[in-house]
Amino acid sequence: MKSEDTVTKLTDRMLQGKLAPWKAEEAALEDGLTAPENITAGAAARRSFIEAKSGQRFRHIVLPDQPYHTAYRCPNDQSLWTLAAEDTHIRCGMCDTPLEALPEAQRHKPLVNNYIGGIEDYYSYAGEVTVGGDVKKTFQNILCWGPGVGHLGISVGCFKLNKYGPIEVQVSDWGIAARNLSFVFDTEGDREKAKKIIQKKLPDVLPKITRDHLSEWGGEIVDVDFLYKQHHGDRILHCCFYSRFENHRGHGQTSHAAGSAKLIFDDLLKENGIACRLSVVGMGRDGDLKPSPRNRRGRYVSAQQAIPVSEYEKSIGRSIEEFFSYIELDRQGVTEEIGWPVYTGMGGEIIPAFYRTMKNNPRPYLVSCFQKVYATIRGNDLIFGVELPNVEVGITSSPEGIIPPMAREALRICGITSAREFAAALAAVTLGGEFNFATLHVQERMYTGR
Ligand SMILES: [Zn+2]
Repeated sequence: MKSEDTVTKLTDRMLQGKLAPWKAEEAALEDGLTAPENITAGAAARRSFIEAKSGQRFRHIVLPDQPYHTAYRCPNDQSLWTLAAEDTHIRCGMCDTPLEALPEAQRHKPLVNNYIGGIEDYYSYAGEVTVGGDVKKTFQNILCWGPGVGHLGISVGCFKLNKYGPIEVQVSDWGIAARNLSFVFDTEGDREKAKKIIQKKLPDVLPKITRDHLSEWGGEIVDVDFLYKQHHGDRILHCCFYSRFENHRGHGQTSHAAGSAKLIFDDLLKENGIACRLSVVGMGRDGDLKPSPRNRRGRYVSAQQAIPVSEYEKSIGRSIEEFFSYIELDRQGVTEEIGWPVYTGMGGEIIPAFYRTMKNNPRPYLVSCFQKVYATIRGNDLIFGVELPNVEVGITSSPEGIIPPMAREALRICGITSAREFAAALAAVTLGGEFNFATLHVQERMYTGR
């Protein structure tokens, strides 16, 4: 069949580096296919290209029979609708009028740019990235980004950064989970006594709650800290448990461990005649799903690359000082708008795209989206980096939820086999995206059509 020939031809050209993966649809047209068959062939060719690169087969990330959208207009209110070609409800979502298809030439487009499969969650290919340092590996970047071209920017950014060698990644060995207990007393004396009694009991309590709730998941308590706070007549004692895990997120286990410690402490306070007015799990203090630069949860990861200043100045066509002016004006904009002293750059888009693809725990990844872009000069090099201080991730399925088959396939294709590799790949694609983005802005090419 003609289209099968085209797919084989395009795949070979991609593998030889003669065809950019995002140009596959265009190349299929040139090879004689017509729309929308060229879209199907382009996606199929990218899939076989990625299979060859990753050594993995696509099974659960399916390619639908019609992997494109169809564009319509509502004749009643003139609203435009681009629907997945497989959508059978061809009516306006606002007034229920039957929709009219746009002229042939404007009708069909891929579901997302650089589409490679998936229904509802549309997967895109965003090139590959090689990292060195704490993790040494080449990852195939696949992302559920959305309809935009962000993944192309990541692709280009990773390619440009890898011209200077692997991206240097540093990632902590453990991911931290935290759960806080809070006790309210009428007097400071009672609070002081309670703290001493609890502290004294910890050497008995920690092995028990570890055995009961953490060991099976390879987790352990690494720290317990105390904090005094007051609200009017409430003398508050916070007691926060920190656990750490290598590949498991451990959030639920840590919560249950702290919950069982609470029961032991409650009995202890009663036995010692200490009047505790309220004893609760006080989640506000443990950073649960609260984005904050002071967040004490998750895993630290950073990624950076060194680029000779002279080469980078040539690339942006201006002085490095102007690049730093851009970094500073953007940093100032972000920090002042969000009111926190942490610069998030584009991480708020790139990081969720990564989590949506891999579907590891946690599903609410808000905590993990904090990111800082940094740039400095060292010797003759520009050092461009990102740090993600709070990446929460469990690579194993758990009571917090399974990782669905298509997400497990995405992990295999990407090449992720541990929580550290998840964090390393995440930081590397974030850096690639930020680098491309910052460069385009300073070149005045972003959104200007230049
Ligand atoms: Zn309508």
